Amino acid sequence: MSSRVKRSLWTNTLGQMRMSQSTFSGKVAVVTGSTDGIGLAAAQALGQRGAHVVVSSRSQANVDKAVALLQNQNIRVTGTTCNVGKGEDREKLVQLTLDQCGGIDILVSNVAVNVFFGNTMDTTEEMWDETLSTNVTSGFLMTKLVVPHMVKRGGGSIVFVSSITGYQPIRGLGPYCVSKSALLGLTKVLAPELAPSNIRVNGVAPGVIRTQFSSPLWENEDFMNGFKKRLSIKRAGETEEIGSVISFLCSEEASFITGETIEASGGFNCRL
Ligand code: NAP
Repeated sequence: MSSRVKRSLWTNTLGQMRMSQSTFSGKVAVVTGSTDGIGLAAAQALGQRGAHVVVSSRSQANVDKAVALLQNQNIRVTGTTCNVGKGEDREKLVQLTLDQCGGIDILVSNVAVNVFFGNTMDTTEEMWDETLSTNVTSGFLMTKLVVPHMVKRGGGSIVFVSSITGYQPIRGLGPYCVSKSALLGLTKVLAPELAPSNIRVNGVAPGVIRTQFSSPLWENEDFMNGFKKRLSIKRAGETEEIGSVISFLCSEEASFITGETIEASGGFNCRL
């Protein structure tokens, strides 16, 4: 058995011990960008603990694949296409969720792009706008759409997927890092505003996690050798290791946590 599989089994066993299949019973969770990577792992973690999950991404084929995978795990799932950068898609996602699931309790705002690698001063206005619009504005606008429906349910939980680069920028990824810092700020700003409505707002700041998106980092031996020197746990993370943090933040076990972003990086130590 590979050490990766052993780790994954250990993680799943721990997850099952701490949270049961009924943790999110009767709850509806919308996870954006959830046909692959961290979003899919978040949908899986929430679904395994009883939530009806609504998965989406830009491609119908990817949505179909993710729905089939989750259904095979006996997870209650609804799927649709949604490009979070498009207002009509965001509205369609929310309406479909209301029509098919009857309400919304959880939002995981997960989508991000990185459209540029290089000196920040060489970023064009278009690149800057696309990064901030997809990574920050779309998450905020999704929040605006779902909050009235969470209020109707008596409360809810929102998680923004930030990054350790929001705390400590990685060179070459300037606009992306700025967008991830903005999510730390958005989390802090919304938490006190939404607390009276019994809605908690938190974030997760992953380190390097083995996904398609970050493959230019974890497949680069030189980068990883340097990066691992800064870690206590000297490896890249797995998507399940972020899905479980997201599911914890959405659960009643985190009922006294709001405005917080949890670093899950193997000990990158980017904050006190
Ligand atoms: P990933 O494996 O590439 O998955 C991205 C998912 O989002 C896919 O399902 C993709 O499907 C969908 N997607 C992409 N653009 C979209 C859009 N405009 N609208 C809707 N869906 C879209 O990425 P990931 O690594 O899991 O990253 C997820 C989040 O984690 C991002 O916010 C990223 O910044 C953050 N993060 C990742 C790492 C890491 O090391 N992986 C570290 C820190 C933070 P389609 O292509 O079908 O749309």
